[in-house]
Amino acid sequence: MIHLERIVLREIHLPLVEPFQTAGGTVVARRVLLLELTDADGTTAWSECVAESLPSYSADTVDTCWLAITEWLAPRVLGSTFDTPRDVHEALDRNVRGHAMARAAIEMGVWALVAQRAGRPLAELLLEGSRFARNGGAVLRHDVATGIAVGMQRDPAALVARVDAARARGYQRVRIKVGPGRDVEYVRAVREALGDTLSLGVDANCSYTLADAEHVRALAELDGLGLEFIEQPLAHDDLVRHAELQRRLATPICLDESITGAARVDDAIALGSGRMINLKPGRVGGFTEAITVHDHCARAGIPMWCGGMLETGIGRAYNVALAALPNFTFPGDLSPSARYWARDIVRPEWTMDAEGRVRVPLDRPGIGVEVDTGMIQELVNREVVVTATASTR
Ligand code: MG
Repeated sequence: MIHLERIVLREIHLPLVEPFQTAGGTVVARRVLLLELTDADGTTAWSECVAESLPSYSADTVDTCWLAITEWLAPRVLGSTFDTPRDVHEALDRNVRGHAMARAAIEMGVWALVAQRAGRPLAELLLEGSRFARNGGAVLRHDVATGIAVGMQRDPAALVARVDAARARGYQRVRIKVGPGRDVEYVRAVREALGDTLSLGVDANCSYTLADAEHVRALAELDGLGLEFIEQPLAHDDLVRHAELQRRLATPICLDESITGAARVDDAIALGSGRMINLKPGRVGGFTEAITVHDHCARAGIPMWCGGMLETGIGRAYNVALAALPNFTFPGDLSPSARYWARDIVRPEWTMDAEGRVRVPLDRPGIGVEVDTGMIQELVNREVVVTATASTR
């Protein structure tokens, strides 16, 4: 039984160790919305809403999620009784359009709460939720391969240096952020300096259009650079033109922003819009939908990897658990804490070994790390407690 009594929302500000630039903008410090869920028996779980400050990656932002959770979503689940996290997902999903990252923050927290109370690692519960894994007798990964996203750099030489350093650290795949005018010359410089064997992808964050001849030419040139994938070159909601582009490219298109749920995956597969999926559970409304996406991709032979949203160690714990599922066959965006933060808000911090692997904490219950509540309390700049009957600020 799940009977949530209280959800505390806290917003903290955490500076990145270095600015991160994509086609969507530059992030210097992360505004992070954290949830602390408490069940009727006193069990607690922390979750992280992955929305950013601005609606550049998705329509969800820290502020819209704060509103959605406090006003509409938390009241749907607080004080009610549910059998499973899937039931919570359905309660949050019913007659709600959008607000996927707000729904996910609650729903994923419920998965962790159930795992915590059962004394079991979160990843085990996710595996049990996967029909594909159950039917195929699949087992969890004990560690997950890690790739790194390298933001835009001031010139090709700076990018080469960054990619080289990432490779030396052990990262198994490097993904370069690109955009019109910051693409072919940069990626070619990396290829020429570091060789053909480097596992390389690019992420365009929706910044190209087939209506622009320069963009089309750049995409064709990227196609000749031996990339593992070109991620989300076209608009976030445009599966049709992605299919048209995929027919022209030998390089697989990896869909990120476009995949907002399992139905969109089915559409993308039917249209031929891409051959790989970057899955972020926050983008699809939580783990219930993420597991369905996983299963649909697995059945269709579409490989996946787990993306990142500049999460703290709390959000990373959820991603690591998800990436332990069998169809996450490509290195995920699961960089260790030190890549982003001078000091993370979990203990132990997330680390990566010399082969670029992050261990899945299968020997620990729940999310597998302790939350540094003292540090969070020092960083909080707003907080609200929502209960079944009221919210207090
Ligand atoms: Mg992406």
